[in-house]
Amino acid sequence: MANPVILVVDDDQGVLSAVERDLRPKFGHDYRIVKAASGAAALDLVAKLQQRNEAIALFLTDQRMPNMTGLEFLEQAIQAFPEAKRVLLTAYADTEAAIASINKLQLDYYLLKPWDPPEDHLYPVLTDLLDDWRSNVRLPFEGIRVAGTLWSPGSHDVKDFLARHQIAYQWLDVDADEKARALVETSADGSLKLPVLFFPDGSTLVAPEIHALAEKLGIQTTASMPFYDVVIIGAGPAGLSAAVYGASSGLQCLVIEKQVPGGQAGNSPRIENYLGFPTGIAGMDLTRRAVTQARRFGAEIISTQCVTGIRTQDMYRVITLDNGMEIVSKAVLLATGAAFRKLEVPGIDQFLGAGVFYGAAYTEAAYYKDEPVFVVGGANSAGQGALFLSRFASKVTMLIRREVQQSSHYLREAEAANPKIERRFNVEIVEIHGKPGRLDDIVIQDIATGEKTTLPGAAMFVFIGAIPQNDIVKELVLLDPKGFVLTGHDLMKDGKPPREWPLERDPFMLETSVPGIFAAGDVRLGTNHRVASATGEGGIAIAAIESYLKTL
Ligand SMILES: Cc1cc2nc3c(=O)[nH]c(=O)nc-3n(C[C@H](O)[C@H](O)[C@H](O)COP(=O)(O)OP(=O)(O)OC[C@H]3O[C@@H](n4cnc5c(N)ncnc54)[C@H](O)[C@@H]3O)c2cc1C
Repeated sequence: MANPVILVVDDDQGVLSAVERDLRPKFGHDYRIVKAASGAAALDLVAKLQQRNEAIALFLTDQRMPNMTGLEFLEQAIQAFPEAKRVLLTAYADTEAAIASINKLQLDYYLLKPWDPPEDHLYPVLTDLLDDWRSNVRLPFEGIRVAGTLWSPGSHDVKDFLARHQIAYQWLDVDADEKARALVETSADGSLKLPVLFFPDGSTLVAPEIHALAEKLGIQTTASMPFYDVVIIGAGPAGLSAAVYGASSGLQCLVIEKQVPGGQAGNSPRIENYLGFPTGIAGMDLTRRAVTQARRFGAEIISTQCVTGIRTQDMYRVITLDNGMEIVSKAVLLATGAAFRKLEVPGIDQFLGAGVFYGAAYTEAAYYKDEPVFVVGGANSAGQGALFLSRFASKVTMLIRREVQQSSHYLREAEAANPKIERRFNVEIVEIHGKPGRLDDIVIQDIATGEKTTLPGAAMFVFIGAIPQNDIVKELVLLDPKGFVLTGHDLMKDGKPPREWPLERDPFMLETSVPGIFAAGDVRLGTNHRVASATGEGGIAIAAIESYLKTL
């Protein structure tokens, strides 16, 4: 990070140069010596340094300057950098003003001009002050800072996006931190549009679209070519595995992801049952490695681009993006997975991303430290969520609709053994109270008896199953009654392909009712909704696609 600043302010260029000449050999290695020729110019610099989250260690300002005296400058500058040391350069006639300011401005020192020799009059004083500053100051965070409120869904989306891309950020809560609030007000023209992102280069983004944020961060969001061998839609485990196998076999592969690579697996705090990781692995870690591996083999992965349609054009498949762009390929793999099923409770919408979260335990859990929270659901993902949340929350109440849980044995045992987790069976939520960002309590009802109970809690994490993400193909390929995509063997009836199938040959494994469009993972009928199944199917799909390409 940039060295902390010593800011020297004097309207007399001769004095300014003399100060710089004396400071640089002694302090220039550890500090940046920055000069300003007036109080106003210095205040501009102060604002810029604050916005870039840099540190000012010491103000060294002349007292006698036209328009703004040194003391007037310090009075304003220390609002932004209250920990900076304050030294006034005075002539003999100003000493009384300086002494009067020692208490008012907590002036650390006043230096009488001239200060020659600096070894006697300047260096000992400044060395002492700077050592003192170093031992007491917390140096600013170097990366991106996100200023927002817990109640703003936009802030939640940005934090989630950064976390899923493993980009470190510092969270500034404008409700709890006045300095953060003032910073937001100065950078967003006085309005309080949230979140505001401050980048180390001094630039800001106010309430950005996720796509704009991705571009700012240099994340690839557009395809580099108009034509590919295979376009893979969705970068969950199925899509990423297909990208690894496809690209390593020499196919030109493009993966299009509407949010962030990782899919549902990226939401899993710890995948315990994936082969080769005896102590489990965080879903984000697993999928991040897969992204690196796929890219290493030459696959292209673009994020924050949603596929809105697929059409067939002779032997080609044309994919449309929500920005209107079209990409052509020989084959398509649909790996769009499943989306969280929504909880139906009156008034719940106002809390979405602001007290009620779908699976997003990762980014939000720490903000509910020592508070009671709820987990809705009783299956594997809910169990994992509850165990993860119990590291932070004072209590985790699992609210389960059924009388018994349908989850892995090891998870049920871990839940039962965890003193912070309570499981309530046969209940549903009927009311939610609070204000966005923080729940007060909820009312649950016993499904058998109708008895209602009010439970206090600050946040709710919902894991109640998933529905296939089939929007882009529901008019194109055959689905089962629940919306899962039919492929290969499941399309066959009495040993024959369905009426809609146009070719002599039978569909390949994982091929849908439209030749050249394949499906793998949670969107497909017959998968078992596990990371291992999705990755396995991604690999199998590529083998089937290679067979298909040979028929063209
Ligand atoms: C919280 C949680 C914990 C879990 N824990 C485990 C576990 O411990 N072990 C285990 O085996 N399984 C676990 N699972 C299940 C596992 O994560 C899924 O079975 C697996 O992720 C399915 O992979 P997929 O690639 O088929 O789909 P997904 O992971 O759902 O990925 C699909 C991707 O497609 C993208 N997409 C969708 N539509 C479009 C579109 N139109 N355009 C572009 N992109 C699109 C989505 O944004 C998403 O990123 C867990 C799931 C959850 C939610």
